[in-house]
Amino acid sequence: MHVLIAGGGVGGLCLAQGLRRAGISCAVYERSPGLTPGGYLLHMNADGGNGLRACLPDDLYDLYVRTSRPTPRRDVLVIQNHLGHELAVKPHLGPSNDPVTPHTTVHRRALCQIMLHGIEDRVRFGREVVGYRSTADGVTIELDNGELAHGDVLVAADGINSAVRRQFLPDVETAVLVRDVLLSRSPLTPAVERALPDAFQDSFVITVDPAGTLMAAGLFRPRHPFTAEMPVDAVEDYVSVSVEPAAAGIDIFAASGPELHDVMRKAVTDWHPGLQQLVDGVLPDTIMPKTTRMVLPTDPWSPGNVTVLGDAIHAMPPMLGDGANSALRDAASLTTALSDAARGYTDLSVAVGRYEEAMRARTYPLLREAMTVADA
Ligand SMILES: Cc1cc2nc3c(=O)[nH]c(=O)nc-3n(C[C@H](O)[C@H](O)[C@H](O)COP(=O)(O)OP(=O)(O)OC[C@H]3O[C@@H](n4cnc5c(N)ncnc54)[C@H](O)[C@@H]3O)c2cc1C
Repeated sequence: MHVLIAGGGVGGLCLAQGLRRAGISCAVYERSPGLTPGGYLLHMNADGGNGLRACLPDDLYDLYVRTSRPTPRRDVLVIQNHLGHELAVKPHLGPSNDPVTPHTTVHRRALCQIMLHGIEDRVRFGREVVGYRSTADGVTIELDNGELAHGDVLVAADGINSAVRRQFLPDVETAVLVRDVLLSRSPLTPAVERALPDAFQDSFVITVDPAGTLMAAGLFRPRHPFTAEMPVDAVEDYVSVSVEPAAAGIDIFAASGPELHDVMRKAVTDWHPGLQQLVDGVLPDTIMPKTTRMVLPTDPWSPGNVTVLGDAIHAMPPMLGDGANSALRDAASLTTALSDAARGYTDLSVAVGRYEEAMRARTYPLLREAMTVADA
């Protein structure tokens, strides 16, 4: 069996690792010229942790654990007001990892570097999948340079704007969640840490103010310092800072880093001094404007030799902290399904159908709940 994977992000790389472990040939086609620089924090639960454990070789799984954040003091999402007063706490979505590393966070780029390690020869960067043709004999994909590639199965792991999903399931719709979001990083210096409200020693912190500005933030400091021997670029300790200004006042997609930094600063002018200091310290070149969107659930489709994984089929609000976890879980369960088919235990479309049914059962309830805040 040869599996074609469109997209080398969180889910696509994990699937490629899982298939390698299962002895199944695969090729990943990733549009970007390499792993994207920068990165943000990913909150990890046992769906993601177990997905990685199932797909990665032991040494890389161990590296994932070592490069993750130590277990926070209280393993909850804290919601506070702009003066740093706690308003509520919420349990994280998804099951806990083991007792030593129940819920944790990782730096997205480091996780992708770990997942790329050892499968570099299976990943073709700078290759965009633009379409495919599926027949009883397999699937042929077309790349942006006109090249064709043939396999037995095609997996759409190409994110929320998935070109493969648009062809495969053209009725699937997306909806806007938040139009103006500014993602950024601020160095975690001792002075910043001392000034921050206490809740930052817990897991993620959501801060809201009466004007409607929202900030989501979390600390990243790995369990063990990154070393030169690790196949991962060193990352200074940082605070992941994502601000949704009540009114940005400018077109954030046309603005420069310093202009965006001004928008962030203005949005928190009357906030707790530690939060203002945090935003002051944001590195302008890390600020990334974004509109967050989600995929709307759709009716079940007939399974076959094309399937979908991760954000391509169930992109959800980042605030749930579950999109990457779900993509990793998909990768592990699709690996099992494809292994069963490759070994002749079951027909390919039956195996893919079982995977898809479980994937929809796990993620669609979350999407339906999130739809109540989405802007169709
Ligand atoms: C700010 C923010 C915070 C988040 N926090 C969390 C969190 O705490 N926990 C959590 O679980 N999730 C979180 N998420 C969600 C998580 O990042 C995504 O759900 C996850 O990355 C989805 O993985 P994926 O592999 O499906 O898609 P992606 O990781 O987006 O990968 C898709 C890949 O496909 C490539 N691609 C696109 N089109 C093509 C094409 N036509 N051909 C070839 N390649 C293509 C892209 O370049 C990309 O590399 C967060 C998201 C954001 C934005």
